[in-house]
Amino acid sequence: MNIQQTCETYVANTYKRYPVTFVRGAGAHLWDEEGREYVDLGSGIAVNIFGVSDPVWVGAVTKQLNALPHTCNLYYAESCARLAEMLCQRTGMQKVFFSNSGAEANECMIKAARKYGEATGRSTIITLKDSFHGRTIATLAATGQDVFHQHFGPFPAGFAYAEPNDINSVRALSERENACAVMLEVVQGEGGVRALDGDFLRGVEALCREKDMLFCIDEVQTGNGRSGQLYAYMTYGLAPDIVSTAKGLGGGLPIGATLLGGKVKDTLTYGDHGSTFGGNPVACAGAVSILSRLDEEFLQGVRERADYIRGELAGAKGVRGVDGLGLMLGIETEKSAGEIVSACLARGVLVLTAKSKVRLLPPLNIAWDDLKTAVAVLKEVIAA
Ligand SMILES: *Cc1c(COP(=O)(O)O)cnc(C)c1O
Repeated sequence: MNIQQTCETYVANTYKRYPVTFVRGAGAHLWDEEGREYVDLGSGIAVNIFGVSDPVWVGAVTKQLNALPHTCNLYYAESCARLAEMLCQRTGMQKVFFSNSGAEANECMIKAARKYGEATGRSTIITLKDSFHGRTIATLAATGQDVFHQHFGPFPAGFAYAEPNDINSVRALSERENACAVMLEVVQGEGGVRALDGDFLRGVEALCREKDMLFCIDEVQTGNGRSGQLYAYMTYGLAPDIVSTAKGLGGGLPIGATLLGGKVKDTLTYGDHGSTFGGNPVACAGAVSILSRLDEEFLQGVRERADYIRGELAGAKGVRGVDGLGLMLGIETEKSAGEIVSACLARGVLVLTAKSKVRLLPPLNIAWDDLKTAVAVLKEVIAA
């Protein structure tokens, strides 16, 4: 059997895959087993911030790999400590819990919020319709989409779903449900790349202060420079109590981080939470190398690339609209998104979908030549 047949036979059938097997990459370029070259506008779903096998990241990771790949959390580890310090200094948050994925980062956010609410007898967490928070049982329950609430029940109680961009809906639920937290994405990613209104986000923050609810932001996809700011909430000057992040933070290795602000920095104590691999030295060393390069000059480059893509696509033939923030863009097209992804693949350009939209999540440092070539192909495919 070839690779694709073996995979179809032995790997659980939870993913619909395109008929391509990548064997190598460098920056925004990937090569398949036949040697065909592709330009990547998906970054392995917002993970490969500096493209594939970025040499600085590879250097940091291999150095740690050779020195000490794993110890477990019974002992101290330098890269884990440095990463936590860096995350706190750059965000004003006070403590970090490390895990291995976005869903786990959100599990920790949920646990911290529940324990915070315990003293006042509150346990409900308000999330938004069309949100996406992960695939574990609790994060599926947090996800405000009915399609994710089939087959796997009973789900944990204590989640209520408000309308995005409707502060009255959040207020009504907060009064009805006796809620301890609101949890949202600044740009709803899997829900169709929908950037929420700044006024709504500031309204939720004010409501959280008024009702002593925790303001919790899921930056798993939007975080780590993707939005054109280090974290998307910074675009609107928000001050969340908890922030979860993952995907791009590891630059290609699994990591999740839950950033805890002043109100909850001591909420989780000994024995409350843990993870065997959480804070893994190799993943953390890679993340330190990623985060230390996401400075203002770099973020300016992200915004310039985003402006370029928007300028090319807004009003172009076959394009109905462009939504998103920074290099997280959703394009509504006349043709179906699936058709566009397949046609781009055939022409050597990788793009994604989110609901009915074409989704772009290019490497944040994609070379201008590559970006221009790939966007030109995408435009032709959308217009054809
Ligand atoms: C991808 C994603 C998750 C889940 O992350 P995993 O690493 O797949 O568990 C959670 N929240 C948001 C906003 C995401 O985009």
